[in-house]
Amino acid sequence: MTQEFSYFAPGPAKIPEEVLRGLQEEILQYKDTHVSVLEVSHRSKDFGNIIESTEQLTRELLHVPANYRILFMQGGGTGQFAAVPLNLMPRTGKADYLVTGSWSAKAAKEAAKYGQVSEVVPRAGRYVGVPPPATWTLDPQASYVYYCANETVEGVELQSVPEVPAGVPLVCDMSSNFFTRPFDVSKFGVIYGGAQKNIGCAGVTMVIIREDLLGNPLPVCPSVLDYTVTAKNKSLYNTPPTFAIHVMGEVLAWVRQEGGVEEMERRCLEKSNMIYSIIDKSGGFYSAVVEPGSRSRVNVVFRVGGVAGDKQKEAAFLEEATKKGLLSLKGHRSVGGVRASLYNALTIKDTRRLADFMVSYQREHRA
Ligand SMILES: *Cc1c(COP(=O)(O)O)cnc(C)c1O
Repeated sequence: MTQEFSYFAPGPAKIPEEVLRGLQEEILQYKDTHVSVLEVSHRSKDFGNIIESTEQLTRELLHVPANYRILFMQGGGTGQFAAVPLNLMPRTGKADYLVTGSWSAKAAKEAAKYGQVSEVVPRAGRYVGVPPPATWTLDPQASYVYYCANETVEGVELQSVPEVPAGVPLVCDMSSNFFTRPFDVSKFGVIYGGAQKNIGCAGVTMVIIREDLLGNPLPVCPSVLDYTVTAKNKSLYNTPPTFAIHVMGEVLAWVRQEGGVEEMERRCLEKSNMIYSIIDKSGGFYSAVVEPGSRSRVNVVFRVGGVAGDKQKEAAFLEEATKKGLLSLKGHRSVGGVRASLYNALTIKDTRRLADFMVSYQREHRA
């Protein structure tokens, strides 16, 4: 019997197999062009169709209102940590950051180069949950309020869109839970996400921005991070990551075919509940770190051998999982433990294989 493999990587992450098979052919020849999809000019009609259809799929899947622009940028999520202040900070020179984990902390640090940054969520110790909104200190004069919808490293996810003072644009990093649930785009000023978690491969970052926020970047803003320049040039100011945009379009077509973001949400809940319920029923053999109300549906972080984890027991668990073909379950180096990333392409069947493994592993290793 050939061994099965399931890939739980946090990003770059699994891409649906059907999509990969299609790409395999297109790498040799794209449609009837006699050239590889890797070779298609960004100024050609073929690429025009690729970028146009990727935008249209996004508009359809997320019900993006007409007064929002969709941009394809480079520099990853990290590039956006700078792009956001470079484009929005001039409004008042200060911004509010909801720091709920490593990624929003990095974003706040980057933004502080360009303006006055306030961390508005009280923090006690490690990131294990989102303190209640009543404890936040939001400034009605802020240029924007920034948050990360899903903290990929810690497995902390906000389960609803935060309320912000009237007139203050809300900015969200959705890199790791983009297209995993429906949401109301009109509540946001800017939404962005790198492709390599849920919507493709590394190299492209999608930005959705309300039109009225364009036109006021800091004078030092580099052209490649400038939302206004990018929008004006339809994401073709310079050579865009053509292949990564194509992969994104193919993944979004797959999302639509599978039933859209509503179906992705249903699957995310089914998958993450399957793993959390094994953790919760394990009698302490496995321990979830994050508070129940903030548990991520896409990055399930847990410990083996007590709430603080036991390094040796975790290493043994990971080694055995790898032998069984359950790959890349190791937690982020900064927090340790185990992390199962259950993004859209990770199937219910993959998740069940992990669930079955966790149950049998516990049975064999109970003290
Ligand atoms: C992965 C990730 C990033 C960083 O993305 P890069 O493409 O590596 O810059 C930022 N924010 C979140 C939430 C992420 O998951």
